[in-house]
Amino acid sequence: MTEAHKFVDIRHAQKAYGDLEVLKDISLTVDRGEIVAIIGPSGSGKSTLLRAINDLDSLTGGEVWLDGVQINKDLPYRQYEKHINAMRQQVGMVFQHFNLFPHLSVRDNVTMAPKLLKGLSDKEADKLAEEQLNHVGMLERIDYYPSQLSGGQKQRVAIARALAMQPKLMLFDEATSALDPELVEEVNLVMKRLAEEHMTMIIVTHEMDFAASVCDRVIFMDKGVVVEQGPPSVVFQNPTEERTKEFLRKHL
Ligand code: ADP
Ligand code: MG
Repeated sequence: MTEAHKFVDIRHAQKAYGDLEVLKDISLTVDRGEIVAIIGPSGSGKSTLLRAINDLDSLTGGEVWLDGVQINKDLPYRQYEKHINAMRQQVGMVFQHFNLFPHLSVRDNVTMAPKLLKGLSDKEADKLAEEQLNHVGMLERIDYYPSQLSGGQKQRVAIARALAMQPKLMLFDEATSALDPELVEEVNLVMKRLAEEHMTMIIVTHEMDFAASVCDRVIFMDKGVVVEQGPPSVVFQNPTEERTKEFLRKHL
């Protein structure tokens, strides 16, 4: 680890499914505290890239580093399991489809990982859950079950659950895409708040307005490559690449 290491450092990421190259030699870095949006057409590899960060989808080439430690290290199986579990604890992830455990209350959804993985006592975990649920405006629903919540509420609980592990990095994969339009804003507000608190975030989104108002940098991907990236003002208002312009014509 060098002192000048990048907080998130993706080096020559490649992913292929048979002949299909989904990620073609992608290199990018994210600074601590930076908020990055990834935009691009469906099938361009955004989810694959995000999932490669915590090795949910293993790369076929390249490296992913977080805060000076390589995530996708080549290790014997048992050592790898230990290593990847430790790394994944540092990376919170929120998906499009709220993957709360349906048979667990909101409280238990949030406290489970801190108890299981970090050895917190019931009392400590409860305190943490209350703090995090309060943070996303869901404290009043702590004893509800997922089936009793709206999509927006579920997504806010999913965010609280991820935050309860006190991650260094948060990944969002179209966290609002499955929501009814009137529920999008409440989730965006939570993400906006996290941005103001300088949580490092990589956000795959279709919401250009949100990306423009919250993110420090926008990355446009197409067909497994980073076509263009820069501050939202540049990428959205003055893109250089034809593919970016074409995508934005359809989505702005
Ligand atoms: P995006 O999130 O940008 O819509 P994805 O990363 O989900 O794109 O997918 C990129 C490409 O990889 C798509 O062509 C998709 O069909 C393909 N793909 C994703 N997962 C698999 C898989 N498990 N097996 C085969 N192809 C896959
Ligand atoms: Mg996707």
